[in-house]
Amino acid sequence: MAFSVRGWRRARILRKAPVDESLWRETLARYRFLTGLSAAERERLRGLVTVFLHDKQIHGAAGLELSASMRMSIAAQACILLLDLPEDWYDGWVEVVIYPDEFVPEVEWEDEFGVVHVGKEVRSGEAWLRGPVVLSWADIGEDFADGVNVAIHEFAHKLDMLNGDADGYPPLHAGMDRALWSGVLGAAYEDFCRRVDAGAGTAIDPYAAESPGEFFAVLSEAFIERPEIVRADYPDVYAQLSAFYRQDPYARQLAAGLLPAS
Ligand SMILES: [Zn+2]
Repeated sequence: MAFSVRGWRRARILRKAPVDESLWRETLARYRFLTGLSAAERERLRGLVTVFLHDKQIHGAAGLELSASMRMSIAAQACILLLDLPEDWYDGWVEVVIYPDEFVPEVEWEDEFGVVHVGKEVRSGEAWLRGPVVLSWADIGEDFADGVNVAIHEFAHKLDMLNGDADGYPPLHAGMDRALWSGVLGAAYEDFCRRVDAGAGTAIDPYAAESPGEFFAVLSEAFIERPEIVRADYPDVYAQLSAFYRQDPYARQLAAGLLPAS
């Protein structure tokens, strides 16, 4: 009975390592997308954050010292995605590495002539299959509320990678239609690429045009932070993301008075 072992373990963590009340309030107030959660949702999020802080190793890199408040910010941004998902969907990896600012990972790849290159590309986030999530504190420490959130982006890749590569096809729940998911996200991705190629301005980060995997991660950021943008541009994608995350951030933000009534 894996479920009851998990439940027992969870109860023990919540009892032994509860999160600090004032830090928790501060974290809830820091991010606009945490506004409008019901009391039950806040309590569930708090439980997820407590377990995340217990189970994950969150390290500062390049001399960055992480305070308890910084750790909790990271955990809250990770766990908002997990709010209505199975609790074990962040299992299988432990490390979160935080750089003070954008970082330059050394990436090796082999070209068509068999020559190995070392790439130095500036990044603000990375997520490795069964490996760490790497983030830049400068990009996640405060809420820009613009629909771009590198932390949510990388943790969305982690969910996508539950069934292999970050390809925009995470494991779908029973009752969700795989063909519908592929059709809706595929059509929206093609439309988005056309818009970006045509130089059309878009409220959604143009990085989403990189690949179907990036499209899913970028749309997940916007879905949580600025759901009205996803809902207006791609209502079918909004519906699929809502079914996947089992959340309706648009309704939540509307009820909280963050959005104009349409
Ligand atoms: Zn990405």
